[in-house]
Amino acid sequence: MPRRKKDPHVWGAVSIQPGQELDAEVPISESYCGRQVSFPVHIKRGDEAGPTVFVTAAVHGDELNGTAAIRSLIVDPQIRLTRGTLILVPVVNVLGFETHSRYLPDRRDLNRCFPGSSSGSQASRLARVVFDEIVGRSDLGIDLHTAAIRRTNHPNVRGDFRNAEVRQLAEAFGCPLLVDEPGPEGSFRRAATDAGCPTILLEAGEIWKMESPIVEVARQGIINVLSELEMLHGLLCFRKPIELIEKTQWIRSDHAGFLDFHCQLGKHVRQGDPLATITSLLGRNPVSIFAPMDSVVLGLTTLPVTTPGEPICHLGQLQPRAALLNNAIIRLTDAA
Ligand SMILES: [Zn+2]
Repeated sequence: MPRRKKDPHVWGAVSIQPGQELDAEVPISESYCGRQVSFPVHIKRGDEAGPTVFVTAAVHGDELNGTAAIRSLIVDPQIRLTRGTLILVPVVNVLGFETHSRYLPDRRDLNRCFPGSSSGSQASRLARVVFDEIVGRSDLGIDLHTAAIRRTNHPNVRGDFRNAEVRQLAEAFGCPLLVDEPGPEGSFRRAATDAGCPTILLEAGEIWKMESPIVEVARQGIINVLSELEMLHGLLCFRKPIELIEKTQWIRSDHAGFLDFHCQLGKHVRQGDPLATITSLLGRNPVSIFAPMDSVVLGLTTLPVTTPGEPICHLGQLQPRAALLNNAIIRLTDAA
């Protein structure tokens, strides 16, 4: 798909002039009652011509940290573009959002259905609308996510870094941890990138929450990208990424019981370090789980109990030079 099939400055019957802002609604479907279902969009246009950047959240309808970050940017009078256009979508999956659900009512995962089809399933049709209306108007994209249910993620930015523009976008975001991962088949960032709209993803925090530090990471990252693209003046707070993760691994439990954690989110662990100890309901039979490699803790379960096979800890293996920067990682994490 060629870039910008649609004009980013024309939304339905309304057009947006240089220096203006616009609220619009994008129709996506109909309810059982026959009412139109749509998602709201906010567009900011700079005084001068420039790139169009989209920022989306709640592709999974229960992931709300990104929604909060986008809402804060919409109403912030300091976010006034000098050039280019910003398309802000606080909730993509409005049908899941209405029921506090990751999924759509047809139980499909929207983030496995891109680029979608206008004659397909409910999820596939929504994906197609999002793709045509948002990606089809954009040059670059940022998609905001959290961990799935009963897990939390330390902020990390993911993308297909074989694509130089994706890599530059990720570095501009300024998150200290980058994960080189193209994304699953059908994911928004992968399909958008493949279609010529380089897109990154932020993974940070938990579902069903508005976590202030996480919201600030997302908000500042977006501002950093806009500043790097010279779309915004005076708000740059550049934090150069210091580590690249090329391999991640979920560490799973082999036993049932209560969990005592020995590691912390965002902190570095050495091969052989204890990650958690599992004991029975009576506090007996302790069994510890150890880190299989030098790595950083990207994600953790938020449940204090486990059964065999359940994920405990998500580790990211750092590139070899990481060992030299270990102290820097911890210092930055502590400061965040
Ligand atoms: Zn998600």
